[in-house]
Amino acid sequence: MAVSRGLHFFQNPGPTNIPDRVLRAMDRGTIDFTGAQFKAIAEECFAGLKRVFKTEQTILGYAASGHGAWEAALVNLFSPGDKVLVVETGYFSLNWGMRCESFGLEVETLANDWRNTADPAALESRLREDRGHALKAVLVVHNETSTGVVHDIAALRRAVDAAGHPALFLVDVISSLASMDFRMDEWGVDVVVAGSQKGLMLPTGMAFTGVSAKALAAAAHAKLPRVYWDWRRLVEGNSQAWWNGTAPVHFFYGLQEALRMLEEEGLDQVFARHHRLAEATRRAVRVWRQNDGPEMFAVDPRAQSDSVTAVLTPEGYDANKVREAALDRFNVSLGGGLGPLQGRVLRIGHLGDLNEPMILGALAAVEMALELTGVPHGRGGVDAAMDYLVSEA
Ligand code: PLP
Repeated sequence: MAVSRGLHFFQNPGPTNIPDRVLRAMDRGTIDFTGAQFKAIAEECFAGLKRVFKTEQTILGYAASGHGAWEAALVNLFSPGDKVLVVETGYFSLNWGMRCESFGLEVETLANDWRNTADPAALESRLREDRGHALKAVLVVHNETSTGVVHDIAALRRAVDAAGHPALFLVDVISSLASMDFRMDEWGVDVVVAGSQKGLMLPTGMAFTGVSAKALAAAAHAKLPRVYWDWRRLVEGNSQAWWNGTAPVHFFYGLQEALRMLEEEGLDQVFARHHRLAEATRRAVRVWRQNDGPEMFAVDPRAQSDSVTAVLTPEGYDANKVREAALDRFNVSLGGGLGPLQGRVLRIGHLGDLNEPMILGALAAVEMALELTGVPHGRGGVDAAMDYLVSEA
């Protein structure tokens, strides 16, 4: 393998770059997780997370990847045979649904074309039909990382309310939290599923659930077996007081620093930066689209994600070849297509600790990789991205 010099550009849509400040904060000796020093750090972190989730309700943490938080939500809320409605958004929505099936839940999928945002009217009409309220919950992915399409959580919540349906409302924010606006309480979300390795700029290995009072009440009656994920073993009052096992102390060191960084910048500025870098990416893709080149997978401009752009290569051209060229020749790592999008899309992550030169470097590598792999495209995508970034400076 050729030796690579210079920075490795990690442009996957998660995990993301870990800022030096976070790495340095984690570079410390361990402390007793039952002691006062850890308690103070954990309290600062949970208070900061509440501001990021925009909630006054309970947030719980686990040593796990996002899959753990997916599972925690299911085993705490449901009993065998319960019926749930999964809003189809892409690979991750169906994957969460598959997990429901593995736990013996009955899963109905509200079908949706992956290139477009989920239709609140379709959700409302399905829930209106469910007069007996057999559906116990609606599951949605806010930002579908496999497609780069954002789903309008506030509008989907309004649809549940308009149908007068009591279903719990579960939202996966794994690739939107701390990159795009999300409001747990205002949008009436009962359970929020989040992970450490994307907008929170930490390593993979910690997962979170935001839990509403309604969800905590449901958890008291749920019958699926649970031990490690059991909210009743973690909560005291409305915050986390206990751990099942050893608390991940080093994650808290990192989380404390990451939350301080987010607050220094200001969440609104964090979102604006993500929007700017995402828009620069979209400008580049629009230029590449010329000559029947690659195109945005997300069709509706209002639903194009600010944390990941999925780029559909023209029929007959393998997106993985472009990714391989970017990695092998230029040391730039991109995300690949998932499920049926394998080989059809490449995904450019633009979330977390990222600035203009970093995204421009990545876009330049993609443009060069398109050239090297013979994929037809318009030239000058990077110029278009630069023009936009200058106009926004
Ligand atoms: N949900 C979404 C939207 C994701 O993007 C991911 C991972 O990328 C997951 C769930 C699974 O999370 P993890 O890989 O941390 O288990």
